[in-house]
Amino acid sequence: MSEAQPLSDELRVLNPATEEVVATVPAASASDVDAAVVRAARAQTGWAALAPGDRARLLRRFAAVVDGHLEELARLEVMEAGHTVGNARWEAGNVRDLLDYAAGGVERLTGRQIPVAGGLDVTILEPLGVVGVIAPWNFPMPIAAWGTAPALAAGNAVLLKPAETTPLTALRLAELALEAGLPEGLFQVLPGHGPVAGDALVRHPGVAKIVFTGSTAVGRRVAAEGAARLKPVTLELGGKSPNIVFADADLEAAAAATPMSFLDNSGQDCCARTRILVQRTVYDRFLALLAPAIESVRVGDPADEGTDMGPLISRAQLDRVRSYVPDDADAIRGKTPGDGPGFWFPPTVLTGVDAHARVAVEEVFGPVAVVLPFEDEADAVRLANATDYGLSGSLWTRDVGRALRVSSAVRAGNLSVNSHSSVRYWTPFGGFKQSGLGRELGPDALTAFTETKNVFISTEA
Ligand code: NAD
Repeated sequence: MSEAQPLSDELRVLNPATEEVVATVPAASASDVDAAVVRAARAQTGWAALAPGDRARLLRRFAAVVDGHLEELARLEVMEAGHTVGNARWEAGNVRDLLDYAAGGVERLTGRQIPVAGGLDVTILEPLGVVGVIAPWNFPMPIAAWGTAPALAAGNAVLLKPAETTPLTALRLAELALEAGLPEGLFQVLPGHGPVAGDALVRHPGVAKIVFTGSTAVGRRVAAEGAARLKPVTLELGGKSPNIVFADADLEAAAAATPMSFLDNSGQDCCARTRILVQRTVYDRFLALLAPAIESVRVGDPADEGTDMGPLISRAQLDRVRSYVPDDADAIRGKTPGDGPGFWFPPTVLTGVDAHARVAVEEVFGPVAVVLPFEDEADAVRLANATDYGLSGSLWTRDVGRALRVSSAVRAGNLSVNSHSSVRYWTPFGGFKQSGLGRELGPDALTAFTETKNVFISTEA
């Protein structure tokens, strides 16, 4: 879904709110990737040999330097990705927190001692070597850090390929890493085209693992290339998540929380709750509460502190989103800031849509949701699971037993009850079904970047 650009030698970075070119960045070639792998492998050897406390200290220093540049990083994110400034500040803070959390894991990355006869058996968690992180444009900073921070903490070097449209924050983070004292070559950023730099990373024999976040279509391709080389791949892919509202829920609270559950980041969120499932007995009442909440969402200049929702990332994304919403569709529509430049689409909730319609089953990746009625708990679960995806979901009910039953029955990796929160750096995150493979974040994040070696030491010799 990245903007289709000719595969030029440079990337043009646009401000999505104004359509101005804000930077041009040289695009990494396959031979740039080769050279980066050599540098990374060299740096990784020294990094893995450092005392754990020293590695942790350097990562904490990296976190502190990021903290000292939060506003600058946030403004870059606003400029290249069109994120609201409030969200962008949170995202830069998330990078700092991920680094701090990962740093806390360095001295705790322990193996086990397993009872055996005639000796001592221990497991050792060794770093993989050079890890490739391929990031999308929708959350350029946090998603880059989800892979990078624990991989570095576990003793690996990282090569990060940001999306074509959003390389600037990644490049700045690499500079800040050097400023913090991380060794040259340990964390490198390779801005470039997916089919060139991304593909070269995936195929490179010197890259031990790929962490890919992006579309399911490209993720499948990355998995196939990984499989051909027996290279482990973590995949964080698309979603079409449900927001299930039962008749016994606090309807006012559910309606008030619904707009930003699919409009945050202009709907360009893999966890966006874009299928609003409402029990039929409260369907009309819920829509009556939802309409004013949607209409009051403030859409506009993302750099303005009062803005809730900014533009889409690109013209290509705007065209894609438009293709899902006929002008005459029955819908609750919010505001757009007018006809000026920028890639704007209004908050939209489509009513009267068939559950099998394209817009009800495909990931739109824009500020568009559908609302569908259901009859009872079994019907809600059936509808919630009637998707190839399984990333996130929410359910609203006052019945604890129902909350537990439905949480257990919905096939998705990240669920929330009476809330829409789903991504915390200290809890695991990832998808079922076509939404992904493997988990990131949480207490086991570092282990995913290690090989387990078992060593038996005989006491008989
Ligand atoms: P995309 O798949 O087009 O691109 C993602 C990254 O892959 C980019 O850096 C791109 O350059 C690179 N790429 C493209 N072709 C490649 C190839 N052949 N080999 C290697 N790399 C290649 O996705 P996008 O449009 O940038 O991002 C949006 C998608 O990401 C949505 O589907 C969204 O749901 C998903 N996403 C998932 C999560 C999650 O955690 N599950 C989080 C954010 C976004």
